[in-house]
Amino acid sequence: MTQLILKPGRERSLLRHHPWIFEGAVERLVGRAKSGDTVEVLGADGRALGKAAWSPKSSIRARMWSFNPNEIIDDAFFKRRVAAALARRTVLPELQGQQGLRLVHAESDGLPGVICDRYGDILVLAFSSAGAEKWRQAITAALLKGTGCTRCYERSDADLRSLEGLAPRCGWLQGEADGGMPTIDEHGISMEVDVVAGHKTGFYLDQRDNRLLVRRLAAGRRVLNCFCYTGGFSLQALAGGAAQVLSLDSSAPALATARRNLALNPQLDAGRAEWREADVFEEQRKLFAAGARFDLIVLDPPKFAPSPAHAESAARAYKDINLQAFKLLAPGGLLMTFSCSGGVGSELFQKIVAGAALDAGASTHMQARIVRRLGPAADHPVLLDFPEGDYLKGLVCMVD
Ligand code: SAH
Repeated sequence: MTQLILKPGRERSLLRHHPWIFEGAVERLVGRAKSGDTVEVLGADGRALGKAAWSPKSSIRARMWSFNPNEIIDDAFFKRRVAAALARRTVLPELQGQQGLRLVHAESDGLPGVICDRYGDILVLAFSSAGAEKWRQAITAALLKGTGCTRCYERSDADLRSLEGLAPRCGWLQGEADGGMPTIDEHGISMEVDVVAGHKTGFYLDQRDNRLLVRRLAAGRRVLNCFCYTGGFSLQALAGGAAQVLSLDSSAPALATARRNLALNPQLDAGRAEWREADVFEEQRKLFAAGARFDLIVLDPPKFAPSPAHAESAARAYKDINLQAFKLLAPGGLLMTFSCSGGVGSELFQKIVAGAALDAGASTHMQARIVRRLGPAADHPVLLDFPEGDYLKGLVCMVD
């Protein structure tokens, strides 16, 4: 088998079980490898470190499949990895019976470049690395068999694929949508999931627990949901008895789905909901100028910093929306604010939010306190050896 020899000292991160081998760590290949081929990884001293998938176009030149040098990477290997990922979802009680569930969370489930979300009896798969692409059929078969699902849609259209030299690919791998899109039940609320045209695999499952928290905090409050997508937080706020919910998003199709979602839940008081197609950066200023104030604001923006290189411009954007949000809060109000940028760590995020609160309170002497720290739901595990997987962080802040 082709061998990947590392430069001296570059075995260190692998010994800590970090799964990425960067371009600059590779001394040479002994033998040939095509995109996605399995290579044996060796330290400069010849020590065998495991098996990886070769990706000649990416700056992440190889991703580790296994740190066991004797592991054979074949169909049976992927069956075992998929079975382990499925088993992990059966342990925590809050995941049991969920109709929408992330079954495979890439590196953190030992399957770099593989995402699998389940919506009812439909699996949505996304392959974003050269190795995942090579083994997609084996992985798909293992997931269909392991779950008993009969329908499976591929959404391999993330920008990441181009970095790996892969073209986008979307379509039904098995079965197809029978008429409409699937709906899932989340905390008693029906949500339509557009697996074909929605963002990512159609739904942001990582925010499941935080949407329940909004429901618990919403009673009697005037709620502003910024970056509402298909209305997940908005509908939970209504279910929790919010006085009113104003939801903002720049995507007309997402808002159309949000409206359909509200209609799917006739138990909610639609008269309390307003959807507005708007740019959050502009609309927050307009709302402030118009004197609008809120008791609970949710800020769940898209990824402003895909990598640490974007951290600075992302920090400015986070600061701006958080600053405007603090200004829009009524006394005693709550801000639930998130960052899903891998390139912005939780310490930096907290600093940005603190700066925003300080500036917002400059004239009023308002102060804000963290009352909760938030992260993704348990079906989005974070491998301790892979801090890059720790992308979603959130704070609930209470103002004076
Ligand atoms: N909170 C949502 C997920 C938000 S995803 C949920 O729980 O499902 C981020 C959303 O921000 C997307 O719907 C995207 O359309 C929207 N968006 C991106 N940039 C925006 C902007 N400048 N103004 C308003 N919405 C924006």
